[in-house]
Amino acid sequence: MTDVPATGIPADVGAFRARHRERHIGPRYRGWLHFGSTTVGALAAIVVAVVMVDAPSLAELASVPLSFLLANLGEYFGHRGPMHHRRRGLAILFERHARQHHRFYTHDAMAAESPRDFQMVLFPPVMLVFFLGALAFPIGALLHWLVSPDVGWLFGATAVTYFLTYEWLHFAYHLPADGWVGRRRLVQVLRRHHTLHHDQRRMAHTNFNITFPIADWLFGTMNRRDQGAAEPAPAAGSAGASVGVSE
Ligand SMILES: [Zn+2]
Ligand SMILES: [Zn+2]
Repeated sequence: MTDVPATGIPADVGAFRARHRERHIGPRYRGWLHFGSTTVGALAAIVVAVVMVDAPSLAELASVPLSFLLANLGEYFGHRGPMHHRRRGLAILFERHARQHHRFYTHDAMAAESPRDFQMVLFPPVMLVFFLGALAFPIGALLHWLVSPDVGWLFGATAVTYFLTYEWLHFAYHLPADGWVGRRRLVQVLRRHHTLHHDQRRMAHTNFNITFPIADWLFGTMNRRDQGAAEPAPAAGSAGASVGVSE
């Protein structure tokens, strides 16, 4: 059984956090600056995209909920796939998510201890460029060309809004649960969903949506309650066991 010191953080998680901070979080890192620049950068992109929308028809506006659903599926399959299974060319996602994020934050140690720990929650700028530059922009440009300019810009605005919602909600789950943000009803409900996913026995199997569990519901991977220690761990060699939880 893992030792739990007075801080409430299991000893193995505390040791991983100490090593990660030493190796990966530079002295110049500022957590609130990371949060602020992510927020301002995304909001600026959203404003530009919305301003470019001219006079959308009702049919064009209907692309917004469709884009939202597509983003929810993208979040689900991106998380269920390369973030939990090493894939050629996308190993950085696996390394940072399954190998680092899931060991820095576990179901029994979900909260950051200081703003420096935000480094292990928010996407680094290089991934922001990848998600927006390699996914949102080309798809938006294709829709702009194939369907209509307004649908292209509406897709861009929806995709970046979805990205920012992901970042804000995930950030909220990893703030202290007894803080002002942590006590909001929506955050409590969604944090519970994500906390169950942070249990290393379940992380490769359930609760892959970080924002709204629509795709988890659609694909039958929703776990609503903690089934406790009685649930057997996945068998050796399964996807869960392959995600290296020991060092
Ligand atoms: Zn998380
Ligand atoms: Zn995960």
